[in-house]
Amino acid sequence: MKRLVLLGGGHSHLEVLRRFGEQPAADTEIVLVDHALFATYSGMLPGLIAGHYGFADCHINLEQLTRSAGARFKKSRAVALEPAIRVVKLEDGTRLDYDIVSIDVGSTPPTAQIPGAAEHAISVKPFDAFALHWEQLIAKVQNGHARKIVMIGGGAAGVELALAMQYRLAQVRVPAMQFELITAASCLLPDHHARARTALERLLAARKIAVHVNANVAGVKANAIELADGSAIASDATVWAAGAGAASWLAQTGLALDTRGFIRIDNHLSSISDTAVFAAGDCATMEGHDIPKSGVYAVREGPVLAGNLRHALAGEPLVPYHPQATALALISAGNRYAVASYGRAKLEGAWVWHWKDYIDRKFMRRYRD
Ligand SMILES: Cc1cc2nc3c(=O)[nH]c(=O)nc-3n(C[C@H](O)[C@H](O)[C@H](O)COP(=O)(O)OP(=O)(O)OC[C@H]3O[C@@H](n4cnc5c(N)ncnc54)[C@H](O)[C@@H]3O)c2cc1C
Repeated sequence: MKRLVLLGGGHSHLEVLRRFGEQPAADTEIVLVDHALFATYSGMLPGLIAGHYGFADCHINLEQLTRSAGARFKKSRAVALEPAIRVVKLEDGTRLDYDIVSIDVGSTPPTAQIPGAAEHAISVKPFDAFALHWEQLIAKVQNGHARKIVMIGGGAAGVELALAMQYRLAQVRVPAMQFELITAASCLLPDHHARARTALERLLAARKIAVHVNANVAGVKANAIELADGSAIASDATVWAAGAGAASWLAQTGLALDTRGFIRIDNHLSSISDTAVFAAGDCATMEGHDIPKSGVYAVREGPVLAGNLRHALAGEPLVPYHPQATALALISAGNRYAVASYGRAKLEGAWVWHWKDYIDRKFMRRYRD
């Protein structure tokens, strides 16, 4: 009997489990390790924050999905990996031997280097902790203990979340809340074409959300954000949605990592330093490609990863993954309105939000039904 260990119930592993459930691998035990019982579908998180969705709409029960795939769910966190003896160590002391291990543990905003960020900023990841912090923040705002919220991060996640939070607070009738958004980049949404950027800048301006560009955060305090140029921005609640950092435990595995600490993989989604290790999603960096840390790519890697894990277990040749050159981004604007960005193309309207809602719900049904 061989053992395939899946670390993290990320977007790629959801598809791996679904496919192994449809077509079980002979003589193979599959174990999924995740400390969270529920996987959050990030595409719907801004809708959860805005109040359009409930918890069940955008969460997948990993234990149920694992069981339906004929696999075993282990609720714990990977803390170490020893490729030389093919063992994963878990937070609860368990040691799991493996024949093949696949890592899909995502990323977290890299706040560790910023003084005060861990204590005073609310990180958007892990998502389950963020959703909890958000409910606490709503209560704080309703009690009059916070009047100004500052979002750090000018990518799609930061923009969507700032608009979603503002929308939700308006629904719970909080008067005169102030929102600001700061980014170290020279513009908002630097990975998108100017057409999409202009549309979102217009929406932020219409909602009176001030944007600070070229603002490098040097420190976070309880009531202010300190910038590298010596200035400060007052903030009653600071939310951190900028950047993607690698899990620190990966550094001790001896696997080949890139300069940011992500696992270097080849186009078969296999570690360049160990053929028994696969990785996908945000925690991996593919050699020769500049793939954004985005759920779209993690989802697309899923089917290829599933196929290659099966091939690796059977000792068969692997198939390559070809990342798409451009990905569609549907960026929601708090209310039921969204902007679609695809290369140079931009579309917007309430219908774009309903289109996004249709796609997102369809995605969720694949892993729930
Ligand atoms: C607010 C927000 C909105 C976003 N919206 C979009 C969007 O609309 N479209 C899009 O393409 N991208 C979006 N993204 C980006 C997207 O969230 C990530 O790119 C995506 O989640 C990466 O998926 P993943 O499979 O790498 O890992 P994740 O989905 O992050 O999953 C990682 C899993 O691993 C588990 N895990 C972590 N560490 C361990 C460990 N040590 N041991 C065991 N398990 C572990 C976690 O609990 C989690 O279940 C958004 C991001 C944010 C912050």
